[in-house]
Amino acid sequence: MILAANWKMHGSSEHLVSYCEALLPRCESLPHQIVLCPPYPLLPQAVMLCAGSQVQVGAQNCHWHQQGAFTGEVSPWLLVQLGVGWVVVGHSERRQHFGETDGTAAARAKAAQEAGLRVIFCVGETLEERQRGETFEVLQRQLHPLEVLAPTAVVVAYEPVWAIGTGHNASPEQIQQAHQFIQAYMREQGKGEVAVIYGGSVKPENAAEILHTPGVAGALVGGASLDATAFWAIIQAAPQQGGEG
Ligand code: PEP
Repeated sequence: MILAANWKMHGSSEHLVSYCEALLPRCESLPHQIVLCPPYPLLPQAVMLCAGSQVQVGAQNCHWHQQGAFTGEVSPWLLVQLGVGWVVVGHSERRQHFGETDGTAAARAKAAQEAGLRVIFCVGETLEERQRGETFEVLQRQLHPLEVLAPTAVVVAYEPVWAIGTGHNASPEQIQQAHQFIQAYMREQGKGEVAVIYGGSVKPENAAEILHTPGVAGALVGGASLDATAFWAIIQAAPQQGGEG
C-alpha cells in the first residue's frame, strides 16, 4: 500500500525532527511505501532525516518547466536533485485557491514524470457535482488530460472535495465505485493497472475500513498525518499484504 502524509502548509523544522524520531524506527521492514510530503522549505531536512529509511519524501506541487521566468514556482528537476522522490499534483486546494486546471495539473504531472518523480495525481468531485450525479463525468474530465503521460505508473488519489478536511469521509461503497471507475478509465486509456489511493478525512478510527475496501491501494492523509502517532495508527490499519500497490 501507499500511505502518503500531506502536511499542507503546516509543520516546522522542530516538528519534523520529533515526527521522524517517532515514525521512522516503526516503519522499518513494513510492506508499504510511506511518503512524507512537508512544505517545500522542509524538504532538504526531510530527505536527510529519511535517508536509509522506509519513508520517501514528496513535494506538494511542482511546475511544468525545468527552469524559466516563473517566479515563485518550483522545478521538478530541482526536486529530484534534492532527493525528493514523489510529488502530489492537482490537489483540490490548488484547484480551488490557485487556479489549477485539468490541463495545468496534467502538464505538471508530465514534467514530474519526465524528471523522474513518482506522481500522486489528485482527482475528485465537489458536493454539488456529486449531488447532480456528475461524479464520473468530473473524474473523466480530470483524468482525460493525463493522456499526455507515458504509460508508466502514475498513482491516482481519489479525493472527493467534500471529504477533505471536513471530518466526513466517503463511504466504502462510494470509494469502491469511484476507484473502479478510475481504474477502468485508465485501463481504457492504455495506462495499465493504476494504483488508486483514497484521500478525505482518513483518521485512525476509519482507516481500517477504508484501507480494506476493495480497489483501495492506500491513502493520502492530510490533517491526521501531522501527528506521528495518528499517522502510525493509520499505517498499522493497512492490510499487510499487497506491497507498494
Ligand atoms: C489532503 O490534504 O489530501 C486530505 C485528504 O486532507 P484530510 O485528510 O485532512 O481530509
